[in-house]
Amino acid sequence: MTMKIIPVQPFDLVIFGGTGDLARRKLLPGLFRRDLAGQLPHEARIIAAARRPMRSEEFQAKAEAWLREFVSKEELSEPDLARFLGRLQYLAVDADSSEGWEGLAETLRAGGERIRAFYLAVGPRFFGPICERLGACGAATPDSRIVVEKPLGHDLASARDLNARIAAVFDEAHVYRIDHYLGKETVQNLMALRFANALFEPLWNARHVDHVQITVAENLGLDGRGEYYDRTGALRDMVQNHLLQLLCLTAMEPPGRFEPDLVRDEKVKVLRALAPIGPANVTQTTVRGQHVARNGIPGYLDDVGVASSATESFVALKANVENWRWSGTPFYLRTGKRLRARMSEIAIVFKDAPHSIFPASAGAVHGNVLVIRLQPDEGVTLRMTIKDPGPGGMRLRGAALDMSFANTLGEKVVIPDAYERLVLDVIRGDQTLFMRRDEVEAAWSWIDPILAAWEDQTNGTRPYDPGGSGPEDALLLMHREGRRWRDITG
Ligand code: NAP
Repeated sequence: MTMKIIPVQPFDLVIFGGTGDLARRKLLPGLFRRDLAGQLPHEARIIAAARRPMRSEEFQAKAEAWLREFVSKEELSEPDLARFLGRLQYLAVDADSSEGWEGLAETLRAGGERIRAFYLAVGPRFFGPICERLGACGAATPDSRIVVEKPLGHDLASARDLNARIAAVFDEAHVYRIDHYLGKETVQNLMALRFANALFEPLWNARHVDHVQITVAENLGLDGRGEYYDRTGALRDMVQNHLLQLLCLTAMEPPGRFEPDLVRDEKVKVLRALAPIGPANVTQTTVRGQHVARNGIPGYLDDVGVASSATESFVALKANVENWRWSGTPFYLRTGKRLRARMSEIAIVFKDAPHSIFPASAGAVHGNVLVIRLQPDEGVTLRMTIKDPGPGGMRLRGAALDMSFANTLGEKVVIPDAYERLVLDVIRGDQTLFMRRDEVEAAWSWIDPILAAWEDQTNGTRPYDPGGSGPEDALLLMHREGRRWRDITG
């Protein structure tokens, strides 16, 4: 299957943090693949900027080693590699001092008229200072684009402050706040499924949907990010951005057209329709947990290296979207570390058929569930009730209509990494899959009161064993309403 290539205009992409983990594992391999696909014009330059001094040749040698590690052998041919490495330059630019900024501005000026984008793949404390220095040295022109990674603030006040610092230099029309979940094929497919098919829309409401479950489960622990994580926790690290974005795409009204601001307008409306969670209902609607050490697997406190901490490595919560479409249909969100498997999915659980015409001997009717699977094995499944094949009368059984993309679209289909798509969207100037300022702030406005209510709780963090589904209380959150979480399976 041939992929359609939409060519981009000549550009200069400056990656701050060009020697960091994100650049090594995701950005450079993603850009290499786009180059391989013929999408990068020959003038395109990629300028890595970081603190330590290094010559461009030295950086290119490092980049070559990273590409050999993170791009498959079949994709790497020597001429392609040489062409891509030829696009790379390195500049030592210190976000903490005036070192290197004039050189950066000069290098960009020498490139002439072309798209200019700055990707901030550095720690969040650098976001504000880098914007300011880009403005001061003249590297940021009125049309320059800026890409910022999570975390976009620690709470509403810090997110507002960050947004104001970005806005002082860059117009909102050129700001790209990345949530890489939105770059996943299946997440975009959720929009295609909903808005390009007449089948689901009539059923996509509280009359027909019993509830929605959104799970982002990880089987690993903190993976060396202990110090950062302990200041952050699962609610800030995962729910405020990724899970709420998935909720928005599931719950939003159809936009008039598939255009960035129309899509984002609808997402903001969902965030603003979320029923507040605060001191009065936080105990009934949220559960936080922390994994404990068991069978030689380190616990949260071991991972972080502290004696005690109330920071959550697991959250489950029940969110209500208070509007005509969703009133009465809860959205259950759950995410955590060291769970049974690495699994991300959105499950739309439909209400049972109103009346069964079949005798009890036929067996139970299995409710319909539409599952949008983000990982592993991206795809969509619809669980149905069918007749068990063969003689022996009417016997019912559950069956899945499974549309794994690899199976349906052919083995040759390559599902691009989210970053690969998103970086090129920046160059194309398409903000549809990026978060707007008001969206980020609306999400924090809903999260902040939960954090505040948790602070007032004593012993609010429940222990859970590694390799399971989280604390017992998370199961009860559903059970007491006659519902159950779907299994976490890899
Ligand atoms: P990292 O591996 O620690 O890399 C940090 C980069 O920042 C290095 O290139 C470093 O340059 C540079 N740097 C440090 N101090 C600097 C300074 N004073 N001036 C200029 N550059 C400086 O970090 P990362 O994992 O790539 O993460 C970068 C950002 O992306 C973070 O905001 C993170 O939350 C976000 N993010 C990362 C991932 C991921 O998969 N890694 C995923 C989602 C979001 P030197 O090498 O010269 O010190």
